[in-house]
Amino acid sequence: MKKFICMVFGMLLGCIFILPAFYCNAQTTAISEDINSKVYDLQQNAFKYYQVKHKGALGIPISYSCAESEAGDIRKYTVEPKYSEYINGNKVEITISQVNVTGSADNFNSILKDNKYIKDIKLDKLDDNTAKVDIETSGKIDIKINPVKRRYLSLGDNRYEFTTFIDVTFKEKVKDNSKIIIVDPGHGGSELGTTANFTYEKQLNLDISKRVKENLEKAGYRVYITRDDDSNVGLLDRTDPANLLNADLFFSVHNNSLPLDVNMQCVHMFRGTTVLYNSTAPKPGREFATILMREVSRTIKTNTYPLQDRPNLVVLSSAWCPAVLMETTVETDDGDTKMMMHRINSQKVADASLRAVNKYFRHMKENNIPKMLCKIGTHTGILFFKMCFK
Ligand SMILES: [Zn+2]
Repeated sequence: MKKFICMVFGMLLGCIFILPAFYCNAQTTAISEDINSKVYDLQQNAFKYYQVKHKGALGIPISYSCAESEAGDIRKYTVEPKYSEYINGNKVEITISQVNVTGSADNFNSILKDNKYIKDIKLDKLDDNTAKVDIETSGKIDIKINPVKRRYLSLGDNRYEFTTFIDVTFKEKVKDNSKIIIVDPGHGGSELGTTANFTYEKQLNLDISKRVKENLEKAGYRVYITRDDDSNVGLLDRTDPANLLNADLFFSVHNNSLPLDVNMQCVHMFRGTTVLYNSTAPKPGREFATILMREVSRTIKTNTYPLQDRPNLVVLSSAWCPAVLMETTVETDDGDTKMMMHRINSQKVADASLRAVNKYFRHMKENNIPKMLCKIGTHTGILFFKMCFK
C-alpha cells in the first residue's frame, strides 16, 4: 500500500515536472530548425560597455532585421547567436558563427578608455560567416558569458531589428552584494521633453538624477547613470546597461506635462507626482513605484494621482529588471514649476528617492523568505520523486 501511494504521488509529480519539459523541448526543436539556417549581423560599431564598482559588462551585438511578416510575433522573436568561448587566464576568445560582420570597429577606443577590466579587444573575420572576438583582460577577475536579449527596435515600414547581446561580464574577486541601480535622466540633447514656465524638462530631470545618483552611491549602491550631460540617448540604449550589468532596478526620472487646453478641474486632479510601471514585464516595478510615489509626494507635498500601468512605454518594456518612470511633478502646472525652481526641492526628491530605494530592497528581502521556503518545498518534491523511481 505504501509503495502504491508512493508511485501515484511520483507519477503526479512526473506530470508536473516532466511533461511540460517535453512540451517545451518539442517547441524549441521546431523553432531552432528555422534559426539554424539564418545568418545574423555582427555590428562592430554597436558594441556596448558599462562599468560600475567591481563589475563591467561588454555587449557583443548579434542582430537580424526583417519584416514583421517574417518575424511573426515580434515580442517573442529571438536571435540565438551561435558561439563558443575559451577563457585562459587573462585571454578570452569568443568564436561566433553564422554572422556577417558589418561596420567599422572605431568605437573600440572609446570602450577601452578608462576601462578597468579590458585592456584590448580585437575582432577578426575567420571566414565569410565566422568571426572571433579576442579580449585581453586585466586578470584576476571572474568572467561569465551569457546571451542577453534586447527588445525589438522598430525600423519603420513594418521592419524590425532584433538583437541578442553576447554579454561578457567581468567581476572582481571581492564579495560585493550591493545592488546595482540604473538612474535614467529622461530626454536630453535635442529631446527637450516638456517645455513650460521657462523650464526645459531635460535639465530638471538631469539635476534630480545626478542628486539621486550621488545619494545612492553614498549609501553604498552601485549606480550607472545613462547620461550625465546634455546628450541624446536612444530609448534602448537607456535600458542596455540594466540588462548587460544585470541590474536590480531601473529608475527613470521625468517631469510631466498636461495639454494647455485641458480644463482646470483636470489640471487640479492630475497635477503632482505619479510613477509609471509595466505589469507585463518579467519583473514588474509596481512595488517600487508604489513606495516611490508615496515617499516623493509626501516629501515635496505634491498631489498624487494613481500609478499608471504602461506596458507599451519602451523603457519600461525593454528592461529585464524592475523598472519605473517617475513623473516627479507636472511642469505645466504653475505651482509645481515654481516649487521645482528651488533646487532645494530637487534635493528633497533625491533624498526621498533614496529612502524609497532603501524601503523597497528591505521589503524585497523580507518577501524573499516565503519564496525560499517554497523552493525548499519543490526540491523536497523532486527528491521524493527520485527516491521512488531510482
Ligand atoms: Zn519626460
